[in-house]
Order: sequence, then structure tokens, then C-alpha cells
Amino acid sequence: MADTVDLDALQRWIREFARLIAEHKEMLTELDSAIGDADHGANMDRGMAAVVAALDSEAPGRPAELFKRTGMTLVSTVGGASGPLYGTAFLRMSAGVGDAETLDADDLAKVLRAALEGITARGKAVEGDKTMVDALSPAVAAFEKAVGGGQPLAEALDAAVRAAEEGRAATIPMVARKGRASYLGERSAGHQDPGATSVTFLLAAAATSLG
Ligand code: ADP
Ligand code: MG
Repeated sequence: MADTVDLDALQRWIREFARLIAEHKEMLTELDSAIGDADHGANMDRGMAAVVAALDSEAPGRPAELFKRTGMTLVSTVGGASGPLYGTAFLRMSAGVGDAETLDADDLAKVLRAALEGITARGKAVEGDKTMVDALSPAVAAFEKAVGGGQPLAEALDAAVRAAEEGRAATIPMVARKGRASYLGERSAGHQDPGATSVTFLLAAAATSLG
């Protein structure tokens, strides 16, 4: 089947995510300065740079190992809410792929669903709380729908990115109910959520590297 991704493609996905985070580090920190403590860009960039260094120093043998190393590195290098949240997402992705060497579109749908479940298990946020869940959840649903409808992987990934972008924009008027931004109450409205922004880069990186 053409729509199968191997370990090399999955590694490109993680590295492209790291590149996008580095490129948009200041923007992420600016978003976090409005409704948080101005460290989301620095947090994510420190974590993803450490992930790239770990992958450079020892190549993973299987997708499960790639995701596990990514998750463990994020948990151990990122202080703040996003470290454990992204870390748990990648650890769940690792558990979800078993010992598979390649992933097809259905497997990728399960991987993305596992990431979302990891984040919600850890952070207890639901859609509407103004978090990364507001971008990731509609993206996972759109991806599943596209794959279920028989669309090619590249189109399903594009659908996921569009849904994430819409979910990201929808966080602007929301009042935060989870995380640091919730301390601001009503004053958190009118600002785009930093985590919803970074997780949209994760999906954009997937579309670039896997589609
Ligand atoms: P901190 O808030 O500890 O400074 P970061 O600035 O790195 O950590 O990350 C902030 C982002 O984490 C928020 O924009 C939000 O998307 C996400 N976040 C915070 N709490 C939760 C939660 N309980 N569930 C899901 N995402 C959350
Ligand atoms: Mg912060």
C-alpha cells in the first residue's frame, strides 16, 4: 500500500516539529506572555532540541522506540505543564504502535487518538477549556473521518491541519478553564492559546513529512 510510513518518515516528522518549534519560538513565548508566564516557546524548544540531540546520538530501531524516546526526553527536559502533557502523548503513541515497523493510515489515526487520550488523561481538559486539546481533538476527528472515508493519507493529513487551525483560532475568544491561563479568568479571552498553537505545528509537521 502506498499510504504507509516507515521509521525514516516518522523521524522526519519529529525533526520537522522541532524545526517549526524553533522557528516559532518567539511567537509561542509571546502568546504565553499574554495569558501565561512567557515560557511556552522556550519550554518546547528546549525539549525538542533535546529530542533531536537524543535521536542524533542513537538512532531508534522502531517507531515505538522513536516515540518513547521523544516522550521521555520531553518529560525530563521540559518544566511546565506542556512537558508532561506532550511527554504523555508521545508515550501513549509509543504504546499504541507495538512493534510495528511501518504504519498505515489507520495506524496513524490510532496513534493520533492515543496522543489525544494521553493529554486528556493527564490534564483533564475538555474542548472549550482553551488548551491544546481544542486544536488536537478536532484534528484527530477530521483525520479519522478522512481515513474512514478512504481519502489518501496526504489529504487526510491536510484535513487534520485545517481542523487544527480552526480549533486554534477558536481558542481566541475562549475563557481558560485549565492551566495557568485559567488564573486570569475572563481576562484570558481575546488571546490565542499557546499550546493549541504548538500542537498545530505537530500536525503541520506530519502533513509535510508523512503525506
Ligand atoms: P506552563 O503553563 O506550566 O507555563 P507551558 O507554558 O509550556 O506550561 O504550556 C502552556 C500550555 O499548556 C497552554 O497554552 C495549554 O495549551 C496547555 N495546558 C495547560 N494545562 C493544560 C491541561 N490541563 N490540559 C491540556 N493542556 C494544558
Ligand atoms: Mg508557560
